[in-house]
Amino acid sequence: MRISWSLGVWRPAMRTLPDPATVAVTVDDAPMPDTMPAMLDLLDRFGAKATFFMSGCRAVAADDLVAETVRRGHAVYAHGWDHVRLDRETPARLIEDMARCEALLARHRPTPVPYLVRLPYNGGWRNSRVHRTLACWQQGCAVVHWGPSTEDHMISTRCASEAEVEPECRREVDRLMADPRLPGGIILMHDQPINDRPGAAFKPAVTVTLMRLLLEGLAAKGLTSVVLPPPPPQAWWRRFALT
Ligand SMILES: [Zn+2]
Repeated sequence: MRISWSLGVWRPAMRTLPDPATVAVTVDDAPMPDTMPAMLDLLDRFGAKATFFMSGCRAVAADDLVAETVRRGHAVYAHGWDHVRLDRETPARLIEDMARCEALLARHRPTPVPYLVRLPYNGGWRNSRVHRTLACWQQGCAVVHWGPSTEDHMISTRCASEAEVEPECRREVDRLMADPRLPGGIILMHDQPINDRPGAAFKPAVTVTLMRLLLEGLAAKGLTSVVLPPPPPQAWWRRFALT
């Protein structure tokens, strides 16, 4: 097991849920106007709730989608504004980027306490300077990791035509359904992942198809997706040792 040490500044890092009868579907890089409505309808159809880590650069053009996401009972948190590696920026820039995004979201719901953070590319989740900076911005915050991931940032790169989207998504969902970390797991997917990999034309179809197959798979296993709960209390020594 890898342990990272700090002088007591580690914030809690969430990787699993306390209840193994549940999972938490988490969606980064939202909201995109051509995929979010379909994802929200799918979640409703399966009685599922999700947690969206929204990118300010996208949310700013889709205020109604942020409102609708909140209205339907999902959780929304900031994923930064520009989707850059904030762990490589100054603390002031990190806070400014997150706060600018949160200000958009706060039009639609009170800023959550404690705040759950997932930075772009998960950058800095083992960086004590980043944890200290995040605590300056939102005291009591926790960093949200995941396990397992849908690996959906790669699916569109393997598709040469629209017809390949469904089988490629199904392959990832089948793998996920066999993953021993699934019960109580925090599942990572994206609303059209922000990257410049090939296959961009297939990203919308991948996002919606993957959400449908994922929710079908979870329902077949009797697992319900819930919004991320607050982080559990942190043992004192975990402020010094991040595992
Ligand atoms: Zn992202």
